[in-house]
Amino acid sequence: MTTTERDDTDATNQKVKTYQYFTNGEWRHANDASTFEVYEPFSRAVFANVANCGRAETKDAIKAATSAFLKWAELTSDVKSALFLKAASIVDRRRDEFSQILARETGCTIFFAHFQQDLVKKYLEQAAGWVYLPKGEIIQSDVPGTYSSVVRRPIGVVACLTPWNGASVLVWRSVVLPLSAGNTVVVKPSEEAPISAGLLVAEVTAEAGFPPGVINVVTHAAGQAATIADEFFRSPDVRCINFTGSVKTGRILAERAGRELKRSVMELGGYNALIVLADVDLDYAVRVAAFSAFFHQGQICMSARKILVQRDVYDEFLTRFIDKTNALPMGDPEDAATIVGPLINPQALATVTERVREAVDKGARIVAGGGWTGQVHEPTILIDVPADATIAFEETFGPVVIVQPVDDALEAVDVVNSSMYGLSTAILCADTFHGIELAAYVKSGAVHINIPTVDDEVQAPIGGVRDSGWGRTGTYGLQDFSDYVWINAQSGERHLPIK
Ligand code: ADP
Repeated sequence: MTTTERDDTDATNQKVKTYQYFTNGEWRHANDASTFEVYEPFSRAVFANVANCGRAETKDAIKAATSAFLKWAELTSDVKSALFLKAASIVDRRRDEFSQILARETGCTIFFAHFQQDLVKKYLEQAAGWVYLPKGEIIQSDVPGTYSSVVRRPIGVVACLTPWNGASVLVWRSVVLPLSAGNTVVVKPSEEAPISAGLLVAEVTAEAGFPPGVINVVTHAAGQAATIADEFFRSPDVRCINFTGSVKTGRILAERAGRELKRSVMELGGYNALIVLADVDLDYAVRVAAFSAFFHQGQICMSARKILVQRDVYDEFLTRFIDKTNALPMGDPEDAATIVGPLINPQALATVTERVREAVDKGARIVAGGGWTGQVHEPTILIDVPADATIAFEETFGPVVIVQPVDDALEAVDVVNSSMYGLSTAILCADTFHGIELAAYVKSGAVHINIPTVDDEVQAPIGGVRDSGWGRTGTYGLQDFSDYVWINAQSGERHLPIK
């Protein structure tokens, strides 16, 4: 089975692959055979042509997922487990190939691309165990002679809307849990990365032998996402909207999900802070700060947007952090030395430069970076940023971070909690137990002590509080994709008030 329909040639005379979409175990053209172009973020060259789906293709995909549901739900765990393990081995075998595609399609460094493939492999390996988790419990009844139990059942078709930024990890993460809970899925990847954030899942699971219809992927051009989502909402068979993306889109989808009484899981953005207390090793703090703020060009929902430094060490930290920032290698993500590569597209670059300019107009100072070449924005540090500058409170996907002094840990926690976001917070301190104590006061889905704001483990409950959303990864999220049914039986007659 192949995704490739034909090879076109682009202006630079390189082969450009054309991808079909995937439904009911088949690769298909969009109904009108239309395709859209996907660009490489660094060179802006055409990377691929991809099927441009709309309502009809989405309806077909939902139909395929609905037909496959009973068969998949009833497959025995050993068969499902073997499929997940086979998929893990395929991801491992094709690690370099998938990393290349991911790096070219999303502009991430090769290091991050490899990291993502390795995490995906672990997701699939752990899912092979999740299918064996108990499906029910006996609960205590106060009525003698009663056998009272609760059974976990799959809910139906889950629509997975996935982003481009950590494309491989985020798409696999969004499908593995619903699948292991016994559901079927329709994936709608971001138009910026339809291959890594969608089609490769189809390719791997098809090769592994997952039954037709269990995983379907509908790709689309810019401007079509709402139309496809509308089909998800209209279908009575789609029972959950599993969304990873911006707060803005999450709000639209959660509102509609409420109206249609569909479940939703919302993994949204963050405005994450790194707190640096005075007793910390400053060299380590600077490296953690650089990683938290600039890894993947700050285009991770967990990236640090603000560094809150205890006043006693503020000047020294800032001096060392500026030096480190100015020394970070920038440029082509395919160059193994590169740490800071391109932003995903020209609109993203424009947003970053506009927000930096607005902050400077309002009185902020740039103490490192500030410029850009092509799509690569320099890693940038801002200080003296006024509270009403958008970058001081809105998630801005780019390598720009604010450094701000605080008197003590409690003031830092107050600053963190003043944000409506709550995804990831990190505290650097020599006294680790003090960090654990502080964590109790932080409104955040994750609090990392002496660890960067960006951290990921398959078995961890990743997700947000407040405007950063709801729902969790790892087995903590199983209940979002399951119905609990009370099966209650009595031997003999129950005492009733009616004789
Ligand atoms: P980002 O700004 O990081 O691209 P988005 O929230 O725009 O984040 O995108 C995440 C996912 O949401 C993508 O799959 C995108 O196509 C989808 N999306 C964007 N707008 C809408 C919308 N109005 N309805 C449904 N999906 C949408």
